Amino acid sequence: MRSNLWLDHLWMPFTSHNEMIDHLPLVIERGSGIYLYGTDDKQYIDAIGSWWVSAFGHCNPQISTAVKNQLDKLEHVLMAGFISDTTAELTSLLGEVLPPRLKRIFYSDNGSTSVEVALKIALQYHAARGDNDRSEFVALGGGYHGDTLGAVSVGGIPAFHTLFQERFKKAHFTDSPYCFRCPANKNCESCSAECMDSLERILNNHGKRVAACIFEPMVQGAVGMRIYPPKVLYRIFELCKKHNVLTIADEVAMGFGRTGEMFACDHAKLVPDIMCLAKCLTGGYLPLAVTAVKEEIYDEFKGGPFSNRTLNHGHTFTGNPLASAAALATLKLLVENKYPKSAEPVMQYFAKELSSLNIHKNISGVRHLGFAGAFEIVKDKETKEPFPKEMRVGFKLSQIALQKGLIIRPLGDVVYYMPPFNVSADELDKIFSLTKETIAEVFR
Ligand SMILES: *Cc1c(COP(=O)(O)O)cnc(C)c1O
Repeated sequence: MRSNLWLDHLWMPFTSHNEMIDHLPLVIERGSGIYLYGTDDKQYIDAIGSWWVSAFGHCNPQISTAVKNQLDKLEHVLMAGFISDTTAELTSLLGEVLPPRLKRIFYSDNGSTSVEVALKIALQYHAARGDNDRSEFVALGGGYHGDTLGAVSVGGIPAFHTLFQERFKKAHFTDSPYCFRCPANKNCESCSAECMDSLERILNNHGKRVAACIFEPMVQGAVGMRIYPPKVLYRIFELCKKHNVLTIADEVAMGFGRTGEMFACDHAKLVPDIMCLAKCLTGGYLPLAVTAVKEEIYDEFKGGPFSNRTLNHGHTFTGNPLASAAALATLKLLVENKYPKSAEPVMQYFAKELSSLNIHKNISGVRHLGFAGAFEIVKDKETKEPFPKEMRVGFKLSQIALQKGLIIRPLGDVVYYMPPFNVSADELDKIFSLTKETIAEVFR
């Protein structure tokens, strides 16, 4: 690299200007498995799957080969009236992997757009049935569904979403199912999903105007890996059914095995009306997303060109063949190696290592589901009092970890891990011994 000229031009996502300047972005040149290598040749462990996408590690041989082969065949073809053979094959395989009732597959190109599509389908579905009053949405407090305006309108993280909701459109928000700091002051044993009393109230008051309820099943990721029990999902589904409100499960982060089941909704054996999928779909190679829909819903979209029933939505790079090739190879790796079940022993090892952090006086709220795990840094373990935000303890911890060659990227003071499905026990040992060294240094 010749110079740092690019720094004068770059606008980094989710990063303040000062932070970008004070902590210059690490320039990464190559990757292999769980490792990334900087231009300085230094090795780093990627413990967070590069924003939760790296299902089988960096530069996985099977996925790389599939993309390379596709590259010599066809790079892109429009997807209206045409479809690449690879995308067609991917669609058949997705049809086998998805819950059978989620039969219709609509492609887009990132998690946010898969959510936009889901919201539009919900609105148009009710309109097609002659129910024109259903134009609002309910979402869970603490939820995250992406950064485009529609997705932001159902986002429940004030720091990210409030400014835009004040200027655009705001949904109804429930309490967050945040078990570590339960809004109803219950614990695992005494809980009857009281956090969703808020959903009941909203639907009693506004139910007839609500098109759909959107939620991240089992794990609220971006707000800080809040893991909640299936009984919360039962309650959501039951209430939505009662009020004829569609369920949209945003499995963008947790779908395809992350939680130890193929889909997070499988923990409750429930099938939503609409499911959004993206992050692990292409194994972290290329942008691609899916909005999967029940056939009963698709039925309302059946008709001719003048029936007003067409979903007039599509992105230029929808169903791109290169991304489809990456997704096809990733899904084959999942299916042929029987993931996530075959990873269960390693997931248990991951859980054990994670819980060993709990002995530290400033670590609490240790939790995991499959290969999603997190802990919280607290000032006082007894009261769960956090450190003042301005201290940025989580950020400092990540900086020290980075010096030691470990990439984590805490959400505030929540530190999380998203290892690839083929991570080894040895690699987990490395991740957690570096974490322990880091914690010791932060609190020395
Ligand atoms: C990441 C994420 C999104 C947005 O996906 P992008 O590809 O970043 O647009 C939506 N929902 C959830 C639950 C996510 O974690």
